[in-house]
Amino acid sequence: MNLVLFGPPGAGKGTQSKILTEKRGLPQLSTGDMLRAAIEAGTPLGLACKALMAKGELVPDETVIGIIADRYDQPDCKNGAVFDGFPRTIPQAEALDKMLERRRRQIDMVIELKVDDAALLARVEARIKAGGVLRSDDTPETLTHRLGVYYKNTAPLIGYYQGQGKLKTIDGMAGIEAVTSQIASLLDAI
Ligand code: ADP
Repeated sequence: MNLVLFGPPGAGKGTQSKILTEKRGLPQLSTGDMLRAAIEAGTPLGLACKALMAKGELVPDETVIGIIADRYDQPDCKNGAVFDGFPRTIPQAEALDKMLERRRRQIDMVIELKVDDAALLARVEARIKAGGVLRSDDTPETLTHRLGVYYKNTAPLIGYYQGQGKLKTIDGMAGIEAVTSQIASLLDAI
């Protein structure tokens, strides 16, 4: 099964992807994590993306399409994967469809975690107050910018996947376990 978890930054896609990996053995393919690993390792790709990511801008489509294709061809994706934070633009979604088609696969479901902006900002502010481990793009200012980027570039994917009849929307404001069980009901119905 190939699944896309969709939603604005901070909606809880990463948390739910990790639970899916644990419970269903589907690897989490997070372009954000892959890019951060590239920055950490000091690769040329990481260096090229560092400033864009710190500002909350998207990195170029070709960059993430390339890393996703390489990652998807690893043996652990033989039964599918959970795409987390990818695709984020229409060209990325089209490239993903083509990549899967070439491998005789497809996206089976897109699950949108619906949350409200004020709650997302409150979550980041709570993380800052708690002194938790923060990413360089986890500031209220950058989150506001990332939300703007989400509405402009990523939200149009809702229509794209609706058109394919693949979109399911759930309440991302519920607690972690409640969100997990909403996702489980959708997957069990496939
Ligand atoms: P969040 O969902 O909280 O924004 P991510 O870890 O998914 O966090 O992404 C962090 C940053 O990495 C983004 O703001 C962007 O700069 C870059 N990035 C991640 N995935 C993509 C993508 N699919 N396309 C373009 N840029 C991406």
